[in-house]
Amino acid sequence: MRFSDTLLRQVRDRVSIADYAGKRLTWDKRKSRPSAGDYWACCPFHQEKSPSFHVLDQKGIFNCFGCGEKGDVFTLAMKLEGLNFPEAVEKIAEYAGVPLPKDDVEDRGQDDRRKRLLAITAHTAKLYKDALRSSGGADARKYLQSRGISAEVCEQFGIGLAPDEWTWTLDKLKAEGYSIDEIIDAGVAREGFEGKPPIDTFRGRVTFEIHDTSGKVIGFGGRALAKDAKAKYINSPESALYSKSRVLYRLKQARELLARTKAPGLVVGEGYLDVIAFERAGIAAVAPCGTAPQPLC
Ligand SMILES: [Zn+2]
Repeated sequence: MRFSDTLLRQVRDRVSIADYAGKRLTWDKRKSRPSAGDYWACCPFHQEKSPSFHVLDQKGIFNCFGCGEKGDVFTLAMKLEGLNFPEAVEKIAEYAGVPLPKDDVEDRGQDDRRKRLLAITAHTAKLYKDALRSSGGADARKYLQSRGISAEVCEQFGIGLAPDEWTWTLDKLKAEGYSIDEIIDAGVAREGFEGKPPIDTFRGRVTFEIHDTSGKVIGFGGRALAKDAKAKYINSPESALYSKSRVLYRLKQARELLARTKAPGLVVGEGYLDVIAFERAGIAAVAPCGTAPQPLC
């Protein structure tokens, strides 16, 4: 998407860079003068003990006297959150409450559809997390503990449990008012075998949320809990939300880590658990979703 100068100016004028930066940095109380829109913090882009990261709110700019990083609120969002320019504009526009123009009506229809499917995957993610914490999640928790994954890590990385039932997810989502077609389109249920009724995509599996670059849940990876399962790992099917050839597991977080650590590159792990281990160690890592050879874990 291309943005007009007018639109960029509108977004820039509407958002306070100090407000946006202040959500991520701690202002130095002694050096900052909020009444003048003059803020100082320790720089997020280099190691330091005394603040040389300067924000001038009225001008909408930042400048680090230590490492030389500087720019406007879009540059800051790109660097802090590891976004490309269009993503940064979208992020800040949303933050500022400035609607971005839509190309045409058909686009809007697709947008509504996409929002609906995203609501389904988001709700499913919550269901799976709750299921892992419930009494029925004991076996899954035991497996995860054996892999060094605590309850906090499950929460942080969006790990859950799809119970070993045919229509558990479907029933819960239908009760929320979603149609069977929508649930199938979102990839969390599928047509039944040989004309039988639809069933859940993930059954009896530990689930790993897969996010897009803005952090929304677009699909899941599932690891079988039963030792004799036909496929140890499965992923969401191709859908309007999820395309395995275009998605990398934990890409958003890896970009953020790269931006913060200034590491020269990222690690490509073999499976979800590898990536989680790397990320917890402060190393930016991603994994392909389903196109790689079977993970060894
Ligand atoms: Zn700096």
